[in-house]
Amino acid sequence: MKILVINAGSSSLKFQLYRMHDESVLAKGKVERIGMETAILTYEPENGPELREVSEILDHTTAIRKVLASIVDPDTGVLKSVNEIDAVGHRVVHGGESFKGTVIVNEEVKREIKQLFDLAPLHNPAHLLGITAVEANIPEVSQTVTFDTAFHQTMPPLSYLYPIPMVLYKRHKIRRYGFHGTSHDYVSKHAAAFLGKPLEQLKMITCHIGNGASCTAVLGGKSLDTSMGMTPLEGLMMGTRSGDIDPAIVPFAMSKEELTLNEVNSMLNKHSGLMAISGTSSDMREIQQAMQDGDSKAELAFQMYEYRLRKYIGAYAAAMNGLDVLVFTAGVGENSAILRKAVCDNLTFMGIELDDELNAQRSGSERLISSPASRVAVLVIPTNEELVIAREAHALLNQPN
Ligand code: AMP
Repeated sequence: MKILVINAGSSSLKFQLYRMHDESVLAKGKVERIGMETAILTYEPENGPELREVSEILDHTTAIRKVLASIVDPDTGVLKSVNEIDAVGHRVVHGGESFKGTVIVNEEVKREIKQLFDLAPLHNPAHLLGITAVEANIPEVSQTVTFDTAFHQTMPPLSYLYPIPMVLYKRHKIRRYGFHGTSHDYVSKHAAAFLGKPLEQLKMITCHIGNGASCTAVLGGKSLDTSMGMTPLEGLMMGTRSGDIDPAIVPFAMSKEELTLNEVNSMLNKHSGLMAISGTSSDMREIQQAMQDGDSKAELAFQMYEYRLRKYIGAYAAAMNGLDVLVFTAGVGENSAILRKAVCDNLTFMGIELDDELNAQRSGSERLISSPASRVAVLVIPTNEELVIAREAHALLNQPN
C-alpha cells in the first residue's frame, strides 16, 4: 500500500509518499509560495538528488497537480501512475470536540472541518484546500484526516475547562484542546517500546519543543493534560509566542499602547517569546550562539524558556503524582543538549539524573540520556508526525468492515 501524506498550509504544502510494508519514504518535498508566479516546488525521490523548480502556482489544486506530476515523471518519478497511490492522509490542526481519532474524508467531515475555521483560522481553511485539491486531481482516491487535537481528547474536564463562565464553553466551545497530538502520541508509544515497558503502566511527560512548543502529561498512554489550550498560544514560552501570561495584560496593553485586537494578537503570536526577550532571534540555535558570544539578552531569553518548561514538568509530575519517563522531541528537544541539561540538572529533587556524556552525543536516533541511577528515564525520541498520519490512514483503510 502506498500513502501520500500532505500537510497543507495557506501558502505552502509539504508531502511524503510512503511505501507502507517497510514504512520507507519513496519521495518527499514541498511547494512554497503558493499563489505567486515564482512558487517553488522541491522534490526529493528515494534514490535521487533533490530537484527544485520555480514556476507559477496560483492555487492548491495546481500545487497538487505539480506534486503528482513529479511523482510520476518518467525520469525522476517513483511511480508509473497516480493510480498506484492507495490513499492520501492529511494533517488537520483543529478537530474540536468532534474528532477523537483519524477519520475517512466524506462530505460531513469536510463540513465539520469548515465549522472549526473559527477556532483555527490560520490552519483549517488551508487543510480543507489541500483535501479539495486532491479530490480535483485524483477523485477516486481514499482520503483520511488526522487531527493535532485528537490525542488530547482524553483530557478530563478538570484539565480541559477554563475557570470562566460555563456559558462560554456551552455556546462557543471555549475550552482547552491541546496540539502537537500526533507527536506526543508517537513519542510516548516509542518511548515505552524503547524501554520495553507497557505504556499503560507509565507516568510520562513528553516535551515537544520546536518553534512551537508544548508538553503533555501522558498517564498510561493517554493525554491527561497538555500545555497548549484553545489555541497553540497557551503554555510554554516559544520562538515567537508568549505562552502563559496574565490575561489582564491584553486589555491593559491595548489601552496603553492603543493597540487593536489584531495587533495584540499578532504581538503575542509573532513578536513575543525568545524573539521578544533576546531582541534578535526566535531560533534556538542562534540564541545559543549569541549566548556563547556573551549576549546577556539571549542568555535571559534562554533562562526564561528553560525555567518555564521546567515549571510545567514539575506541575505535570504533581498532576500524575509521580514520573517514570521524561521525553524530549522536536527541533530543540532533539538537538539542544544544553537546554536538556539545564532542565534536568534542576530536577534532581525528582530523582532525575542525566548522563552528561550520553546527553552530549549527537545522534538522530532514539536514545536514553539518563544515568542508570536515575529514578526517571530521560529519553530523546525523534518525532515523526508524517509517519503517524500514514500509519493511521493505513490502519483505518485496512480495517475489516
Ligand atoms: P522545529 O519547529 O521542530 O523544526 O524546531 C525548530 C527549532 O529547533 C528552532 O528554534 C531551531 O533553532 C531549533 N534547533 C534545530 N537544531 C538545533 C540545534 N542543533 N541546537 C539547538 N536548537 C536547534
